[in-house]
Amino acid sequence: MELETMYRSLGISPRVLEFAEETERSLKERFTKIDGRAEYNQLKVIKAMQDNRVSDIHFAATTGYGYNDLGRDTLEAVFASVFCAESALVRPQLISGTHALHIALSGNLRPGDELLSPNGKPYDTLEEVIGIRESVGSLKEYGVTYRQTELLPDGTFDFDGIAKAINGKTKLMTIQRSKGYATRPTFSVDQIGELIAFAKKIKPDLICMVDNCYGEFVDIREPVEAGADMAVGSLIKNPGGGLAPIGGYIVGRKDCIDRASFRLSAPGLGREVGASLGLNQSLYQGLFLSPTVVAGALKGAIFAASLYEKLGFAVVPDSREERHDIIQSITFGTPEGVIAFCQGIQAAAPVDSFVTPEPWDMPGYDSPVIMAAGAFVQGSSIELSADAPIKPPYAVYFQGGLTWYHAKLGILKSLQKLCDAGICRL
Ligand SMILES: *Cc1c(COP(=O)(O)O)cnc(C)c1O
Repeated sequence: MELETMYRSLGISPRVLEFAEETERSLKERFTKIDGRAEYNQLKVIKAMQDNRVSDIHFAATTGYGYNDLGRDTLEAVFASVFCAESALVRPQLISGTHALHIALSGNLRPGDELLSPNGKPYDTLEEVIGIRESVGSLKEYGVTYRQTELLPDGTFDFDGIAKAINGKTKLMTIQRSKGYATRPTFSVDQIGELIAFAKKIKPDLICMVDNCYGEFVDIREPVEAGADMAVGSLIKNPGGGLAPIGGYIVGRKDCIDRASFRLSAPGLGREVGASLGLNQSLYQGLFLSPTVVAGALKGAIFAASLYEKLGFAVVPDSREERHDIIQSITFGTPEGVIAFCQGIQAAAPVDSFVTPEPWDMPGYDSPVIMAAGAFVQGSSIELSADAPIKPPYAVYFQGGLTWYHAKLGILKSLQKLCDAGICRL
């Protein structure tokens, strides 16, 4: 009763709430399974911190060059343990996921090498990194060629095509775990492992890198455990747990991580420099919270899928499939649907709930994009957020939520906006 009054004070009608509660009850079993994985991953993170003897001295700030930054070096050892990797680079100087991917690629590729993507076109911002879209400073300008194979119609890897594409020059294969701005399925760690085993049989020294954005802690296994030489991601997504104010990570084989470090700072300096500027505590604590935060986000994604599927919209993944990332896409088919959804997400935020998001030409993207986020950390997409390129099929990509209850409110607000605009009827 009190709960209904509270929802009503936040603009949720009794009919929307009732419809949502019914949906939530049907998801009990799935939520229990998510909690089980979160429990495992929470223990994995605690064990990594204990094994590396994390202590309050590691939270001290360093400045200047950052030689012998014990907190930074220990944090990297913790990440390496959690991701079962030999080595890790975890830095506030890695500005974003795109930057971390660029450092991993450009650190490990040399002129004359070829880069292969086995999942078709990679994430939008990588097009300019690679030079698929002409761009100053791209890998293409440095003499790195690029090739891609498309996924099969059922969204799986085209093994024959990949076998044909691998040639004498192929140095690195970049596998994108999450669907990003596409409506294909996300790959499981097992599927990625199968691909890596296949590719390495053809070319044992091929470097296999996984763009792990949005995938961390969704499963109990991570890509390095499935044979990846590197896995790369952003700290303002899953593994920062909402507390990391900036940063990226690259984990994997020591020689690959070392080469990336020489690209990040300078040849000869590598990982020995880079002050942590007092950010270490947030990075440790964010990693600590990440498994439960990811669980909340997953519940939100499944709840949204279930709700909008019932209302007749196409959702990827659907309400019953296994999840391999925290992203949910919902296809509304019209700009109005996409915009109403995003405005609902915005209206549920703890920060900037009073602003109205509009589509804009964002750098790195080839069509206007609308983004809804009322985040504590600017641009953080482990916090409840939604974005959509304003182009057919007019699908919205929804992710995050530091708590399940916030994710739920966001989805209820989106549904309320769609109902109020007459786009859907309960
Ligand atoms: C977010 C994302 C990126 C880029 O990360 P940014 O931090 O936004 O630069 C790359 N690949 C995938 C799959 C992503 O989801």
